[in-house]
Amino acid sequence: MGEKNKVLTGHSLLIEGDKIKKIAPDKTFKGKYDQVIDAHGKVVMPGFINAHMHFYSTQVCGLGKAAPSKDFNQVLKNLWWRLDKKLTLEDTYYSTLMPLITAVKKGTTTFIDHHASPFAITGSLETIAKAVKKVGLRASLCYELSDRDGQKISDEGIAENANFIKKCNKEKDPQIKALFGLHASFTIKDKTREKAVEAASGLKTGFHVHTAEAESDQAYNVKNFKKRVVNRLNSFGILGPKTICAHCVHINPKEMDLLAETNTAVVHNPQSNMNNAVGVANLPAMAKKGITVGLGTDAMTVNMLEELRAAMWIRHLADKNPGSGFMEVLSTLAINNAKIANRHFGDSGVGILKEGFAADVILVDYFPWTPFDETNFFGHLCFGIGNSTVDTTIASGKVLMQNKKLKLDIDEEKVAAETLKLSKKLWERF
Ligand SMILES: [Zn+2]
Repeated sequence: MGEKNKVLTGHSLLIEGDKIKKIAPDKTFKGKYDQVIDAHGKVVMPGFINAHMHFYSTQVCGLGKAAPSKDFNQVLKNLWWRLDKKLTLEDTYYSTLMPLITAVKKGTTTFIDHHASPFAITGSLETIAKAVKKVGLRASLCYELSDRDGQKISDEGIAENANFIKKCNKEKDPQIKALFGLHASFTIKDKTREKAVEAASGLKTGFHVHTAEAESDQAYNVKNFKKRVVNRLNSFGILGPKTICAHCVHINPKEMDLLAETNTAVVHNPQSNMNNAVGVANLPAMAKKGITVGLGTDAMTVNMLEELRAAMWIRHLADKNPGSGFMEVLSTLAINNAKIANRHFGDSGVGILKEGFAADVILVDYFPWTPFDETNFFGHLCFGIGNSTVDTTIASGKVLMQNKKLKLDIDEEKVAAETLKLSKKLWERF
């Protein structure tokens, strides 16, 4: 994976500490090693990266109490903005653990998360970080600032982002990074944006913001601020290489130009977009403009191969063309997610199997039944490996799953039982 994709057969990969030490033909490896993993019948790949996630949505699974919603704004009001107000720090901790355990099973080792818990903000990012470290994965975290619960809460959101970014800058933990989270352009007033930009200045960070996810975001910004969403973000200096604009379903060519000029990353979340019936982001148009578009799941799944396949089918359907967007779609997961993540995890280097890079490595069951090399690897990734099972997951050099058995410091069943107890209480409060 990565820009110079290669398929190497008869090779081995040596991990030392939390880094990949050497990749070379088997015969060059001599001597004794603490642990040897046989990768026969398996594809060895970098752990996947999920570039837009919401751990906090975990406890919504099966919740039938939300009123039916006819559009995206109703989904927010009837479900998400009712749920997040009721979250405690304990909910946040377990809501993070559960998807991370599933992620180990699916081979996803890095997350870029966007958190909301407006009545339990302070300490929420630290709580998520604790869960990420407990499972042994990697995440870039932010708190989604908005004005929907009044100024006191928006001020607390600004402080949570700024304090956590400062802490990450100081501690330089290779597993935990931070961004400045903004909910979306239609929920943040100019004054709050100014405060956020001021709080972020000098922190060498970027922003993570939902951008033109639904047409209503554009309509609101044009009506109230006489600016389209991306133009308004730009006018505040929010765009840039470290900034992530999630979705970008409803942006026009001029907004694409702005994203390209500022080298801002876009993250595509096709399953969420289908689920919320908001539309389909135009990946080929964005790629043509030179925008780095990655792949996220918006919490619909932690299985990046499932999301990749969904991205492919919706691209074809949107264009009514079964040949549309193959490279643009594959590049999101196979090339661009590493580029985007390495703007934050650059000191480790993730998403590519490369000497000196993070030892985030997965082994996927696969006996290729058609020719298999770098010229057609993307086809295998989507149509073949995309249906395979992850056998082994290694993150930061630690084996977290082997032979499909979890080797974590925590017990999945116990974590699920604890989360269930909390979910029952949360659903009563909902
Ligand atoms: Zn989202």
